[in-house]
Amino acid sequence: MAFDNCPACNQQVSVGVLTCPNCGHPLTKEKKPLASRLLRVLIQLTAAAMLFVGAMKFAAGSLEDALIWGVVGIVLLHIGVRTKEK
Ligand SMILES: [Zn+2]
Repeated sequence: MAFDNCPACNQQVSVGVLTCPNCGHPLTKEKKPLASRLLRVLIQLTAAAMLFVGAMKFAAGSLEDALIWGVVGIVLLHIGVRTKEK
């Protein structure tokens, strides 16, 4: 049987167990795709930027522009928050 070290308590645990029997640390090695994480951050940053532009437009008095930027920003933010990492 193969053994591995728990990253939390450094005890030897057998490979394949879901949690460390010593400290309960989860040992499933989920590889979260970097691309999807980056995409999510990118969407959120874009949304924040668009909301910022919307606020600037609002401050400048162009309400229609502010509405468009604001709505698109909120929709993007929604997408960014709801996008689940798999
Ligand atoms: Zn442990």
